Amino acid sequence: MRLSHYFLPTLKENPGEAQIVSHRLMLRTGMIFQASSGIYAWLPMGRRVLRKIEQIVREEQDRAGAQEILMPTIQSADLWRESGRYDAYGEEMLRIADRHEREMLYSPTAEELVTDIARKHIKSYRDVPKMMYQIQWKFRDEIRPRFGVMRGREFLMKDCYSFDLDYEGALVSYRKMLEAYIKTFSRMGLTAIPVKADSGAIGGDLSQEFQVLAATGESLIFYDRALDEIVRQGGVVDVDRLMSLYAAEEGLHDPHICKVPQDQLKTARGIEVGHIFYFATKYSDPFKASVVGKNGESITLHMGSYGIGVSRLVGALIEANHDENGIIWPEAVAPFTVGLLNLKPGDGKCDALCEDIYHKLLTQKVEVLYDDRNERAGAKFANMDLIGLPWQIRVGARTLETGKIEIKYRRTGEIQELSLESALNYLKERVGA
Ligand code: ATP
Ligand code: MG
Repeated sequence: MRLSHYFLPTLKENPGEAQIVSHRLMLRTGMIFQASSGIYAWLPMGRRVLRKIEQIVREEQDRAGAQEILMPTIQSADLWRESGRYDAYGEEMLRIADRHEREMLYSPTAEELVTDIARKHIKSYRDVPKMMYQIQWKFRDEIRPRFGVMRGREFLMKDCYSFDLDYEGALVSYRKMLEAYIKTFSRMGLTAIPVKADSGAIGGDLSQEFQVLAATGESLIFYDRALDEIVRQGGVVDVDRLMSLYAAEEGLHDPHICKVPQDQLKTARGIEVGHIFYFATKYSDPFKASVVGKNGESITLHMGSYGIGVSRLVGALIEANHDENGIIWPEAVAPFTVGLLNLKPGDGKCDALCEDIYHKLLTQKVEVLYDDRNERAGAKFANMDLIGLPWQIRVGARTLETGKIEIKYRRTGEIQELSLESALNYLKERVGA
């Protein structure tokens, strides 16, 4: 993509309304546009990042055996009356009437609809286990939308639902999702700690929230240091060991009954990017979602639901990856991998060399944003640092003299001078292109 052609409406000044760094940087880099309170349009660069995140989430859901579906955002109030949530949900639910005065709503989550699908189509014990997920917009009329996409009113969520015969089966599904979540966040270069969640009155003890550590996080969390180590390890996740830590975590909020040794205990602020939850027959009971068992008996389905805040993740990723100059995208979610800077635009030789590099990168399937604009070098450097692409290739007067180009790694600021050929080889190795 040529920057002269790209729609990247960056701002010079820090927008006054943004209180936290991710919101500021998303507005400054022209990733999003506020349409109304808590509702955003995603502009080209923001859309690219959102897509990358979606894709990682999708791949790990598929790998866990979940199947992608797509449910409507607008749903009938009648369905929500069956679970009792039409009244219980309160002011956060956006209620709409159609032209026939039928009550509709914009879905804040989708347990009701997916349970309706299950009761009509999952009939026999042979039809389970099943896991189904969607990546779809949700609406919650949050009382105080804030921090940009972190707490929006309209936001993109991955929501998955599992159906099993009994607790044991549901536990297997739950553990698959737990593992998928650890992989998902670690592929994005994030450390997300699975802390025990308040599961409220229903559902027993199987509920965990994934928290990305950040000073601006809205949740105060307590956890065993060992959890942190497990999620940072990467590779194969030891789910047994991880689950065994929660017994110890019990009572962490009360230092008098805390069983975790003080030197193992960590306290931090976190951004909730995911939530997994087993809730037994909470919805299948009122919906009569049951199957016929081996001996002809009726078995009520056991369900779990598993959410990821896909659009919130964009903010969380920036909170965890930035410096005073701007964003530092982890490679897996970067909008482009390489920024190519022409520092002598208009110079025939420099232009030709840049064109050559641009086309070579495209041929190697490296995603490249080529700054071909007629701008000062200083402005180009600042802009590239601001938008935070992992690699910068700088071509200018020096290149024409020495034949060497500069490669800068945004995360460390390290700059190497290499011949064109070794630079391309180097990138090929580092980005696996
Ligand atoms: P929170 O406690 O932050 O309000 P929640 O417990 O209401 O979240 P869930 O119902 O578990 O959220 O939804 C699944 C995921 O969707 C959350 O883990 C979070 O990442 C994301 N999410 C929830 N509400 C919002 C919102 N208003 N804006 C952006 N993402 C959200
Ligand atoms: Mg939650």
